[in-house]
Amino acid sequence: MTPEFTPEREIDASRQSEDVGEAALRPQTLSDFTGQKASRENLSVFIHAARNRGEALDHVLLHGPPGLGKTTLAQIVSRELGVGFRATSGPVIQRAGDLAAILTNLQPRDVLFIDEIHRLQPAIEEILYPAMEDFQLDLIIGEGPAARSVRIDLPPFTLVAATTRAGLLATPLRDRFGIPLRLVFYTPEELSRIVARGAEKLGFALSAAGAMEIARRSRGTPRIAGRLLRRVRDFASLSVPEGQVVEVDVADAALTRLEVDALGLDGMDRRYLRRIAEYHHGGPVGVETLAAALAESRDTLEDVIEPFLIQEGLVLRTSRGRVLGERGWLHLGLTPPPRPEN
Ligand code: ADP
Repeated sequence: MTPEFTPEREIDASRQSEDVGEAALRPQTLSDFTGQKASRENLSVFIHAARNRGEALDHVLLHGPPGLGKTTLAQIVSRELGVGFRATSGPVIQRAGDLAAILTNLQPRDVLFIDEIHRLQPAIEEILYPAMEDFQLDLIIGEGPAARSVRIDLPPFTLVAATTRAGLLATPLRDRFGIPLRLVFYTPEELSRIVARGAEKLGFALSAAGAMEIARRSRGTPRIAGRLLRRVRDFASLSVPEGQVVEVDVADAALTRLEVDALGLDGMDRRYLRRIAEYHHGGPVGVETLAAALAESRDTLEDVIEPFLIQEGLVLRTSRGRVLGERGWLHLGLTPPPRPEN
């Protein structure tokens, strides 16, 4: 049975996860990578310096909300360095032996990418410290009185780690990254370039205004832009004859059917805002309370939903909890309560 199509599920459930078609749109080189100017320029300098010296690049920490290009950048770093790329993620590494197997199989100067590094177990993190700092692995072999510790030399390598929140990393781990880079939401202009290029790669004729419409409604996030582009193409295939340019009205109609509003918010975002307005008079309300009411994990609210709403001034994060901003009230078509007298 085909699962029923609901726009909310289509966008929300998959906001973080990769889907088919995404890989095809991934930029392959630093010059192909749009946006994140500061991070891109810094990386370019460090990559060239490391290449010229023939050394491993210093460890890189990429942090920022999901879908902004952390994995893509990690792959680009290894390609630009001309070295191998190995990828794993924090929750996948369960035992010290798992990490040891990965590290001892690296070639000199390889890039090891660890996604969601904040979910690494503390015991594994401790093994990573000497590996990052001195390229040495300290392992305990055996148990009880027979246990002994062995030290293994590792090839010099570059750890590129990604996290949605650098604040969750233990300080000693965070301090071991020589190159910390914060990824920020993309501007509509940057996203429209990404969408236009994506349309080209897909062989889909989309007008500049159509690309901008998708860009403005993608929550500042290339992954969402790519996904909306593919959905617009699906809807356009029903109404626009093959080979004809898809105009902004078709894009707008498709996005509206997907329940993506003018600001790019989807059903989940609006449920979040409405909950604060209607059940908590605009807040403050604790994030745990919101998570329980919306049947989402606190992590999803903090990592996926809130960063964009906060950046847009729709929601404010205060020490007493979340508060609906004036823009949040207006976006819901409601009147903000009068400001308290000072
Ligand atoms: P993250 O690891 O931060 O969750 P990804 O690197 O997986 O994000 O990026 C998600 C998708 O967005 C990629 O498949 C790629 O197609 C697209 N993407 C990300 N950044 C860019 C960019 N700067 N230019 C073009 N496409 C991008």
